[in-house]
Amino acid sequence: MIPFNKAPVTGDEQYYMQQAIQNRKLSGDGPFTKKCQEWLEASFHSPKAYLTPSCTHALEMSALLLDIQPGDEVIMPSYTFVSTANAFVLRGAAIVFVDIRPDTMNMDENLIEAAVTSKTKAIVPVHYAGVACEMDTILSIADKYRLAVVEDAAQGVMSTYKGQALGTIGDFGCYSFHDTKNYTSGEGGALLVNDEKNKEQAEIIREKGTNRSRFLRGQVDKYSWVNVGSSYLPGELNAAYLYAQLRHANAINEDRLTSWNMYYDTLEPLADKGLLELPVIPKECRHNAHMFYIKTKDIEERTALVEWLKEDNIISVFHYVPLHSSEAGRHFGRFHGEDRFTTRESERLLRLPMFYEMKKRDIEDITNRIRSFYKC
Ligand SMILES: *Cc1c(COP(=O)(O)O)cnc(C)c1O
Repeated sequence: MIPFNKAPVTGDEQYYMQQAIQNRKLSGDGPFTKKCQEWLEASFHSPKAYLTPSCTHALEMSALLLDIQPGDEVIMPSYTFVSTANAFVLRGAAIVFVDIRPDTMNMDENLIEAAVTSKTKAIVPVHYAGVACEMDTILSIADKYRLAVVEDAAQGVMSTYKGQALGTIGDFGCYSFHDTKNYTSGEGGALLVNDEKNKEQAEIIREKGTNRSRFLRGQVDKYSWVNVGSSYLPGELNAAYLYAQLRHANAINEDRLTSWNMYYDTLEPLADKGLLELPVIPKECRHNAHMFYIKTKDIEERTALVEWLKEDNIISVFHYVPLHSSEAGRHFGRFHGEDRFTTRESERLLRLPMFYEMKKRDIEDITNRIRSFYKC
């Protein structure tokens, strides 16, 4: 069987986890958490990175840092994971969904401005498949209306837009280290705080609303409850696992890109014949091969192809059911403008197996099977 995903393992995980055990320090913000954070800051030129237990938690921290209140509005695509919306709904915000671009599946930057109202507080671009949204346009709208930008870069670790790392472009950037993502700690994430002025509040919110971090640095002589907060620190074993992955970040990235390119080159003749569509990577974007997807003619053809691949033990999966058409999405949000592409394109998209150290032979089998489906 060719699974859809396998968690990445580099071989060094046990060594670092053993070290964490020997350190006799397993709670948050130990040496491995620091190493991971420093790696993220140095590699992506980010002023401050905090490991979190998930990207969901990094998004929730962003909503707390922005002091999102009931009645506020937050703009995002409907074609995304539930956590993008939930983080803001938990603070009482109303979600305003805008349509996506059919080429990248990212929020259409040209539709955002019309969705801004006096209640809008933030724009949340989601970099689908690790391919950047059109950030210059998004930043200029945010600037014009004084809105915050929170990048959901869950899928975008190691990707860039005009040379800048995804997650470092908006006010906050949120990464995921879930085991379906390119780099993992099982469950995990990071919040990148890109404006120095938000660092102290981020520390407080992450440390249960206390100034414990200032205390540990000797800046105050005891720590106390100073604001709302929660526990947004992962344990050291997870950080040790992640550190092994980050140390191999380039090798993992290269390996995935090789698989991605092989899929692309092998399927290009089918795209040229108009049988299916392939992902589009705008020239400003360097992607991280987070995902390889194709688009079929319609949902019926996709269902048949999923079945055809499954008969050959190949697992392919579709992706998000647009949030605005879900029960909670209808309750907590509204779609601004016309749904020209969100539903239509989401019904055509099919993700093929993609993980670290995929065998060339497996990609050949998968693409051959797709060729036979299209009888060519
Ligand atoms: C995976 C993902 C998340 C959630 O990540 P967790 O680390 O599992 O919380 C959020 N947004 C997007 C776009 C994702 O792909």
